[in-house]
Amino acid sequence: MSLPDNRSNLELRKQLKALMSQAKNNEEKLQKLQEQELHFIAANSLPELIDITLQQYRDSYELDYVSLLLIDPDYEVRHVIEFLSPGLLKLPTLIFADNHTQLENVLIAQTFAGKNPRPQDLQKNLFPNVKDQPYVGKCTDACREVLFPSIYKKPASVAILPLIRHNKLIGALNLASYDESRFIKGTATHLLKRLSCILAVCIENAVNNEKLKLLGLTDALTGIHNRRYFMQRLDEEVVRGMRQGLPVSCLFIDIDHFKSFNDLYGHSVGDQVLREVAEKIKQQMRLSDVLARYGGEEFSVLLTNTDTAQALEIAERIRVSIAEAALHAEELHEELHVTVSIGCTTLHKPSIQNPKKLGETLLNAADQALYVSKDAGRNCINVADFNQTAAAQVRH
Ligand code: GH3
Ligand code: MG
Ligand code: MG
Repeated sequence: MSLPDNRSNLELRKQLKALMSQAKNNEEKLQKLQEQELHFIAANSLPELIDITLQQYRDSYELDYVSLLLIDPDYEVRHVIEFLSPGLLKLPTLIFADNHTQLENVLIAQTFAGKNPRPQDLQKNLFPNVKDQPYVGKCTDACREVLFPSIYKKPASVAILPLIRHNKLIGALNLASYDESRFIKGTATHLLKRLSCILAVCIENAVNNEKLKLLGLTDALTGIHNRRYFMQRLDEEVVRGMRQGLPVSCLFIDIDHFKSFNDLYGHSVGDQVLREVAEKIKQQMRLSDVLARYGGEEFSVLLTNTDTAQALEIAERIRVSIAEAALHAEELHEELHVTVSIGCTTLHKPSIQNPKKLGETLLNAADQALYVSKDAGRNCINVADFNQTAAAQVRH
C-alpha cells in the first residue's frame, strides 16, 4: 500500500473533520430531541402538556409559530379542557376540528402544492399510507388558514406532523418558520416523526387520565360536580378569598318533602326531577361559581367574590325559578312541582383559622341556616352569621 501524498492526506483529514462535525451535530440534535420528549412525558396534566407543546417547544427550537390541532368529534377533549383550564380554549394556537376532513385537505394541499394532481391522486386511499409522514415545505393557503389562523405573516416554511394513534389521525403538531430553508423537501424528517409519535401517545394518555379524573369528580345522575369536587374547591376558594380579602358565600339547597314526592311518583320520576332541579340552579349561576350534588336531594353552591346581599339575591332567584317551574318526567303527562329550602352564609374577612376549618365552618353554618328554613315552613331562605353560626330568618 502506498502512503497517501500530502494533498490527499489533507483531503482525508478534511473529510474526517466534516464527518465528525456532522456526527456531533446529529448527536446534539438527538439529545435535544430526547430532552423534549422527556418534557412531554413528564407533563402532569393535559393543560401542562399543551403548554409545553405550544410555548416551551416553540421557544426551545426557536420556531416562529407552533400550533396544535386536535380532532375532537365528540367534544370530549374540549369538555375536559373547559373543566380544567377554560382559558386554554381561547388560545388561537390550540385548534379543534370536529372531523378529519379539514386536516386531510390541508395535507393533500401540502402534498400537491404547485403540482397538478390527477383525480386518482386525490382519492382518500392516499391515506393512511402517507399521512403519518411529516409534511415539510412551503405553506399553502389552506395550511395557513386552518393551521396558522392567527399568524400575522404567512410562514416561509412549515412542518406538519400528523399525530396518529391506533392507525387513526388524532391531530397534528404544526411548526412554522419565517426562514424558508428551515423546513425544506428532502429534510431528514425521521426525528420529527419520532417526536410526533411520542406526542401522540402523551396526548392520548393525558386525555384518558383527565377523563377518568373527571368521572371521579362528577355526579353520574345529574352530570354536575359531586361532593368530593366541592370539598376540594371549597378549600381552594376559601384560601383564595382570604388572600385577596374577598368574600366567599355558600348556599345549601334541599328539596322539600322529597321523600313523599318519591312515594307518590316513584323513584325514576324523582331522579328526573333531581336532574331538572340541578339544571335550574345552574342557570342562575356564574361560570366561576361551583355547584355540586352534595348528597341525595341536597345541593351545595360556592359563590366566589360574593357578599351576603348578592348571595341572597342568587338564592332567591334559584328558589323562585324552582317553585315556579312546571317540571316533567318522561312517563307522566302531568306537570310536577317541587320547592326548595335554602341556607346561606358568607365568609367576609380574612381569618387566622386554618382554611380546612374555615371551609367546614362555612358549610356547617349554611347547613344550620337550611335547618332554620325547614323549621320555618320550607320554600324559603335563611342566612346564618358565619361567626355565630346562628341562623336568623330573613325571608319567607
Ligand atoms: P325535607 O323537606 O325535610 O327535606 O323532607 P325530605 O323528605 O326531602 O327529606 P328526607 O331527608 O326525609 O328524605 C330525603 C329523600 O330524598 C329520601 C329519598 O327518597 C330522596 N332521595 C335521595 N336521593 C335520591 C335519589 O338519588 N333519587 C331519588 N329519586 N330520590 C332520592
Ligand atoms: Mg329534603
Ligand atoms: Mg335532605
